[in-house]
Formats: sequence, C-alpha cells, structure tokens
Amino acid sequence: MKMKIALLGNPNCGKTTMFNAVTGSTQYVGNWPGVTVEKKEGPIRGHKDTLLVDLPGIYSLSPYTLEERITRSYLTNDKPDAVINIVDSTNIERSLYLTTELLEMNIPMIVALNMTDAAEKAGVSIDADKLSKSLGCRVIKTSASEGTGIEDLVKNTIDIASLKERPASYPRFSGCIEDTLEMISVAANKFSGDLPKRWLSVNLFSRDPILRQQLSLEDGLNEIEGLIKSCEESDDDDSESMIANERYTCIDGILKGTVIKGRTEGLSASDRIDVVLTNRLLGLPIFFMIMWSIYYISIQTLGDMTIGWTETLFGTISERVSALLSSANVAEWLHALIIDGAIAGVGAVLGFVPQLMILFLLISFLEDCGYMARVAFIMDRIFRQFGLSGKSFIPMLVGTGCSVPGIMASRTIENESDRRLTIMLTPFVPCGAKLPVFALFAGAFFPQQSWVAPSMYMIGIGMVILSGIILKKTDLFGGEPAPFVMELPSYRMPKIKGVLTHMWERSKAFIVKAGTVIFFAAGLIWFLQAFSWSLQMVRPDESILASIGSFIAPIFRPLGFGNWQSSVAVVTGFLAKEAVVSTYGVLLGVGEVLEDDPMLVSQISRIFTPVSAYAFMVFTLLAPPCFAALGAIRSEMRSWKWTFFAIAWQTGLAYMLSMLIYQFGGLFFEGKEVSEMATVIVGSLVLIAMGYSLYRIIKNSVSGKCACGGNCARCGAAKAGHSK
Ligand code: GDP
Ligand code: MG
Repeated sequence: MKMKIALLGNPNCGKTTMFNAVTGSTQYVGNWPGVTVEKKEGPIRGHKDTLLVDLPGIYSLSPYTLEERITRSYLTNDKPDAVINIVDSTNIERSLYLTTELLEMNIPMIVALNMTDAAEKAGVSIDADKLSKSLGCRVIKTSASEGTGIEDLVKNTIDIASLKERPASYPRFSGCIEDTLEMISVAANKFSGDLPKRWLSVNLFSRDPILRQQLSLEDGLNEIEGLIKSCEESDDDDSESMIANERYTCIDGILKGTVIKGRTEGLSASDRIDVVLTNRLLGLPIFFMIMWSIYYISIQTLGDMTIGWTETLFGTISERVSALLSSANVAEWLHALIIDGAIAGVGAVLGFVPQLMILFLLISFLEDCGYMARVAFIMDRIFRQFGLSGKSFIPMLVGTGCSVPGIMASRTIENESDRRLTIMLTPFVPCGAKLPVFALFAGAFFPQQSWVAPSMYMIGIGMVILSGIILKKTDLFGGEPAPFVMELPSYRMPKIKGVLTHMWERSKAFIVKAGTVIFFAAGLIWFLQAFSWSLQMVRPDESILASIGSFIAPIFRPLGFGNWQSSVAVVTGFLAKEAVVSTYGVLLGVGEVLEDDPMLVSQISRIFTPVSAYAFMVFTLLAPPCFAALGAIRSEMRSWKWTFFAIAWQTGLAYMLSMLIYQFGGLFFEGKEVSEMATVIVGSLVLIAMGYSLYRIIKNSVSGKCACGGNCARCGAAKAGHSK
C-alpha cells in the first residue's frame, strides 16, 4: 500500500508549486485562483512508496463549490495517510480558517507556512513554534518557489504519516455550542460510521446539506434539529454563522503573539499599480495594447529575424539526411518522401518555434506577475454586459497555449449553460498551433503592417463577445451571470525558472506534435500529392490529393481560397492546426517550384492575394479546432448535440466572417465588380437561413419539443408546443 498524502490549502497559496518541488514534476502553475481543477498525483522524489495528491484550492470545507466537493470527498472517502495544509504566510488569518476545519478531521496533518520569503519582505514575522503549540500539529516554514524548507517538510510529513500523529487538539467553541456539539455527537453516534466525530457534530450543527443526505438520519434528524434550534435561540444567531464567528475568534487567539506585523503603509504597491491597470476606462485599452505588443513583437518583429535562421538550419539538416540516404541507395521515391515530405513538412512547422517561444515567454511573464488575474476582472465588466462572468475568461486564458486544457478549465463554472457557452467560445482565442499560420501569412503578405498578427487576437476576443451577445439572447443560454468573486493575487516579480518552465511546457507540446503527428501527416501529404489514383508518380496537379482538393475547393471559392492546396490545408487543419503550415510546406516546396525560390513565404503568394490571405487567417482562427480539442469539447459537453452545435456555430461564424472579409476586401482593395458580390450575398442569406433552422432544430430538441412547429407526422401530434 502506498502512503497517500494530500496537499490542501486556499487557492493560489502555492500548492502546485509545492507539488512540483516535492515530486519533481511540472504541473501547471498560474498566479491566479482556479488553475488546478483536477487532482494531480505523483510520488515524492526519493520516496517511491508515497503518492502526493494536489487538490483544487478551497477556502473552506463546506460543500458549496465544485472544488470544495472534490476536496472534501477526497478527505472522507480516500482517507489520506497525512495532509499537508499549505498556509499562505502573507495571508495567514484567512488561511487558518481552513486549518481550523482540517484539525477536526482527525487526520495526521502538518502545516507548511509557505511564501515565507514574501512575508519576510512585507515585514511579517511568524513564530512557527508558538503556532505549532496552539494548533497542536507540526508547522514548517517553506518557500515552494525558492525551494527552501522542502526537505524538512517532506521528512516531517513522512514522520507523521508513519507515526499516525493526529492533531493534538481542535478548536473549542464557547457558549452553548460545546454542549450542543456533545449532545449531537451522542445522538448521531449510531449513524456516523467511521467519519471523524468532531467534524461530524460540527457539520451537523451547521446543517451541512451533503452530510445530512449521506447519513440518512431519519428520525435522528428531529432530535438534532431540536438541539440546534435551542442553541440558536439562546444566542440569537443561525448555527452556521455561529460556527464561523467562533472560528475567527479562535484564529485571533492563535495569532496573538504569534504573528508580528511590520510596517503597514496605506496603499500597497500592488494596489497602486491596480489603480491604473484595472481602471474602469483604461483597463481594457491597456490590455489590448499589451496583447498587441506581445503579438507584434513575437510574431512580426522577431519573427522576421528568426525565420531566416531556422530556414538555414533545416536546409543543412535536409542536405545531410539527403546525402546519407543517397549513400545508402534508398529508392528515389522513398528519398523524396523523407526529404520533400516529412522533413520539409516538419521543418516548416518547427521554423516557427522561436516565435512561439517568445510569445509563450511573454504570456508566462504576464501570468506569473499577476497581471492576467486582473484581466479576468477587466473582462468581467464586459462579459457581464451580455451575461457571462469573468470566470469564463480563465479557460480562454489557459487556451492561449492549447485549447484542450482551456476547455477543461471550464469545469469551475458552476452554471451549466454558462459553462457550455464558455466551452464553445474558448477555441476562438488563438492557441499556439494557430500562430504559425498567422506568422506565415503575415510575413508573406503584410511584412510592414504591424496590426495584422495582433488583429487575430482581437478578432478572436471580438468573436467571443459577439457570440456571447447573440447566444445569450437565445433561450439556450439565458440567465443572469453568477457573481464573480476572485481574489487578486499581489503583483510579484516572476521567478525566471518558473517563467521558463511555463514557456518550455507549452513549447514542448508543440515540438512533440511536430515530430510525431506532423511528421507522418507531411509524409502522407507528400505521398498523396506525388501519386495518381493508379499509383503512378505524377505532377502534383494530377495527383490524388489534387483531385480530392479540387472536389472540395468550390466550397471555399467565395472565401477567396478555392484552390486545391488550401482545401487540403483546411482539411489537414482539423487533424492539427500545425498541419496547415506543413501542408503548404510540402505542397508548395516541391518539384520545379523549388528552383525559382525555396522560401515558403514567397511561394505562398502564388495562390493568395493579401485579401484572400487575410480571409484564410480569419477562417483558421475561428473554424472548429483540431480533433483533440473537439474531443475535449465532446467530453466536457457530455452530449453530441451540444458538440455539433458548437462545431456548427464555429464553422458558420468562420465561414461568414471570412467571406465578408474576402468579398468586401476585394471590392475596396482589389477593384472587384459589385455584380460579382451579388451572388455571394444571396448565397450568404441562404446560409444564414439554414443556420437559423439548424438552431431551431437543436433548440427544440434540447428543450424536448419537436421542431415541426405543431403539425407533423413524426411526432404524431397537431398541437403547437407538443412534446416529442
Ligand atoms: P495553487 O493555486 O495553490 O496551486 O498555487 P500555485 O502553485 O499555482 O502558485 C501561485 C503563485 O504563487 C505562483 O505565481 C507561484 O509562483 C507563487 N508562489 C508559490 N509558492 C511561492 C513561495 O513560496 N514564495 C513566493 N514568493 N511565491 C510563491
Ligand atoms: Mg494549483
């Protein structure tokens, strides 16, 4: 049997950082609450027989939020051998609330006084020995991010777990409460099973709904209810707030003489920064400016510089491998498959790694310093206008790396319809895999226009807001937004190691994908464009791929990229967005084309105009994400109907917007005739009508009504609003 140890504490107190420090893993750490939604497990380094569990952050064990329920059920059902309660030293009063609850669980427990470095800087000093005496459990000072006190913590934790050293005491309450708790304990004795006695009676006293259900007290309930009522009457307060007040009184007592606060100035540095950054008027423009600069710097400015290096690097690699293959006498087609297919495709994708790393570095910096948490607040004001809360922005933020964890982060949203809407909209925020596409096209068509790459981010957010406004108007997603309370972490200078780890984690996923999925996809693409249906080697435009691509191409003609290469790229984009670039890398970088100019960037301008290129970028941005993300949408929606609705919405919006861009762009910038547009406009009206009826069908099937409108054979009824 492995020794199970749980990490527990408030949101943002450093649990995941501690988990990583102790296990040597690299789980996602963010300087805002709500990052860890699933529990993560791993053995402590050097102690193979242990299993450390990182739980979601909570302020209390009362079962009101999803995080609280997950954590509580872990404690009562999985019965860890020990609990490490992480306490944020800079916020000790609030952190100890949970600690006082944990002490009642009667599980071997240790307190890690984390963030001691930050507390010391703020002039707060805490006497760990005194604290340990008043709590009745061991207390160790740590700093998870600096790596101090970790060994001490591990050693003591293993100690208490193997000695089964339970807390020596628990908080005592005054007035009638103690006596009532005693009587409840007796009354509930025969129902309690192996639940901790003190915890049980305190929670029965505060009318914990889940516990009552779980115990099936039946007639015992009346007796307990009577006891609670009489105590409530004598104190003239409800039992739940009586307990809460008593806990705070206890904490005051514990902290007296234990914590010495240094200087307390008026506004802290964090507050002063926030006056500007979260200002009602300035907040949003500042956010857009920051994102604009980040995208501009990483994709356009530095992008131009680094793309040359990687081209040279891959040129050399490809030459070396080519020489090797020739000397090994491999068949000519296999040689081409490897060099022109797989390596060219992977090279095209990996060429963008430096740009991505810079982007991820800058975003990680913003996250770790605490700015991104503010953005959720700024966004709350806007999202609230159309009925979502700032909580919906967090999945989108996580989605800037990859949509899959972003979609999963939607779990913290309690309201089911808000959660669905957030899942649908999260992929609009460009993930890392879409960036190479933007970088490629921005570099080829708009080298001097600094707004192009950043505009993709803005359009993404714009479409989130627009879709939110439209969809909230429908009764599929109606309802008031939940109040959004999130504590703002104070600004911190990020640790270099943390930022670099973040950046590397995100880039690694990208590189691994390039070396696996993209390697094979590019090989396959090369094969399909080199051979005809009768398996003869032919020119690309007579190949299998060209015939498939040409078959689909008319769909994209109104969008300006009705060539077979782009149709293929759109299709491979469903596999993985990186494959869009590798597909062009293979399709445009081969055969006689290679001789005039080997640069993909200049090749691509043969089949696009600036306007159609922009339309293609927008299509890539908004069109349904890759398979992996669709899988995540399906599993989080837990319904095919909703998954298809999400796909239909994303496709429809992508198609409409890029068509509008291509058509109107053509009119204004490329001297198109108005008459050419007329057909397109009629076509789009038909599309909108189709989209609307699809919406009706889904809406009615979700609400349990038939879409017939009241008179059809399918459901055999002739009244309006009949059920299916
Ligand atoms: P969780 O929400 O409890 O999992 O907290 P995280 O591990 O995600 O950490 C939240 C933030 O606090 C991150 O920005 C960490 O880098 C930072 N952090 C964690 N531990 C420490 C510490 O001991 N000292 C300081 N100064 N910062 C820390
Ligand atoms: Mg965490």
